[in-house]
Amino acid sequence: MCGIVGYIGKQEASNILVEGLSKLEYRGYDSAGIAILKDNKLDVRKYKGRLAVLKENLDKNPSKGNVGIGHTRWATHGEPSDVNSHPHANSSGNIAVVHNGIIENYIELKEKLIMKGYKFLSETDTEVVAHLVDMYYEGDLVEAVSKVVKDLEGAYALGVINKENPDKLIAVRKDSPLIIGIGEGENFIASDIPAVLKYTRNIFIMEDGEMAVVEEDNIILMKSDGTPVEKEVYTVNWDVEAAEKGGYDHFMIKEICEQPKAVKDTLSPRLNKENQIRLDDISLTKEDLEKINQVYIIACGTAYHAGLLGKSLIQKYVDVPVIAEIGSEFRYNDPFIDEKSLMIVVSQSGETADTLAALRMAKEKGARTLAVTNVVGSTISREADDVFYTWAGPEIAVASTKAYTTQLVSLSLIALDMANKKETIQKEEYNELIEELRLIPEKLEDILKMDDSIKELAKEICESEHIFYIGRGIDYDVAREGSLKLKEVSYIHSEAMAAGELKHGTIALIEDGTPVIALATQDKLYDKTVSNIKEVHARGAKIISLGKMGNTEIAKSSDRVIYIPDVVDDLSPILSVVPLQILAYHVATLRGADVDKPRNLAKSVTVE
Ligand code: GLU
Repeated sequence: MCGIVGYIGKQEASNILVEGLSKLEYRGYDSAGIAILKDNKLDVRKYKGRLAVLKENLDKNPSKGNVGIGHTRWATHGEPSDVNSHPHANSSGNIAVVHNGIIENYIELKEKLIMKGYKFLSETDTEVVAHLVDMYYEGDLVEAVSKVVKDLEGAYALGVINKENPDKLIAVRKDSPLIIGIGEGENFIASDIPAVLKYTRNIFIMEDGEMAVVEEDNIILMKSDGTPVEKEVYTVNWDVEAAEKGGYDHFMIKEICEQPKAVKDTLSPRLNKENQIRLDDISLTKEDLEKINQVYIIACGTAYHAGLLGKSLIQKYVDVPVIAEIGSEFRYNDPFIDEKSLMIVVSQSGETADTLAALRMAKEKGARTLAVTNVVGSTISREADDVFYTWAGPEIAVASTKAYTTQLVSLSLIALDMANKKETIQKEEYNELIEELRLIPEKLEDILKMDDSIKELAKEICESEHIFYIGRGIDYDVAREGSLKLKEVSYIHSEAMAAGELKHGTIALIEDGTPVIALATQDKLYDKTVSNIKEVHARGAKIISLGKMGNTEIAKSSDRVIYIPDVVDDLSPILSVVPLQILAYHVATLRGADVDKPRNLAKSVTVE
């Protein structure tokens, strides 16, 4: 989610770190900082805001030295602020740490450290690492970091320096990316290759559980327990621009492919081994939930489509009526809302003006509010009573993909947690759904392998003037998202219809060859959906069905079938949307559209 860089050599480290960070801002940009070692001093500079704020400070008052680490942050724990920015130091200011990822057991570690007298300055999970290195340090930094790593659960790429060992920087990785740049008389660490490409094309790519001791003229690779590791040098043969997109042609497809990880990042820190859900700081108790007699889910665009799944799950499992509505309509419909209402707002950026206005209205009327957002410290996250963060990482492409799937996962967790607290769900059913959620990242990986066949399908339909999407129940919700994705990036006219509603009017638009994408993943609605598919097929539509693996029957009434891995019906949207995202992407690129920046659109819609 964030970007880290480290340098050791003969040049001014601060210039190289800032330059490197500028290539990583796509990974996060709510604050930036560096720590430089020189003359037995550790100079830490860190500021909330874009990298430019740090740069301005360094221009006025340079930080001189040849060893350092830097960070551009995408906050997960603690709002963006100077003090929460990285690097984080131990209390004596000897040791500095940069971190990308989430230390899942940081609360437990923090409590232990506080008992031992350690003082914390920030709200981050990362700060525990600086104090742990301090605790274990007995003259050997490598040994200290090895011990720290044993204590950590979660995801991390770490860069560590220590005033007492000015000849080395330590880098270690688990579940967050990390590379080592191999120079001559200088070496680098970074979250991603673009940060070092100006200086070297020779790279070591670090794997999970590996550690590097990086010196000016030497790089020692080992497992984090000290076992030596041998690695081949990877030589980069692409340019910086391609590198920022990780070798992908566009951010949109890169972000589509990041979904298994984004879902895992959102999910796994919230689940313990006993299948209990930890909803961060959400303080809704059983008593609070019992008082609530109406839930509103308010959002716009793609986030609204995610909200529709939230509605189905909460209504089904929490036994409370739910209204899902788009932000721009909600306020003007004289909604009935009072202190017995709960409003859940969903917004990737946390700044969506229409959603924010609805949130403010709910608060005025005394309702309880809960935000689901991707941006820590955003206006919506600050104003809602409770916040649940989707840990999708920065989403650059305007058309949302990984933010949407992580919203679906977040709303599923919220619904299941509420149901569990209120005891409105059977234990077995609850456990089955949690187990199914855990399998989603793996199944998403399988769907991504279908890229080539979906591209072939895209070729068949990319010249169409109209494309329809149909489905029933939550398939209809996904149909809406699939249709929105297609129209926003390809500019083809598209509509999503409830499959049973088509014959009440819109079917008049079906001509010979009109593509109709029909979702049929819900067992209880399957026969009815197939009847609707037959209705349009009989009028000449080209049917592309989306069904669950193993359903060979659906092929009989379809021209093409996209199969998703088998999954419990209630969670199928988290999988079924992905082929539709890939389809929209390929249709758009085949038509030559600028998928990352579609015309007339903006990423964060801050006007009503
Ligand atoms: N969890 C850390 C924080 O909130 C690092 C986040 C990141 O990877 O950007 O500060």
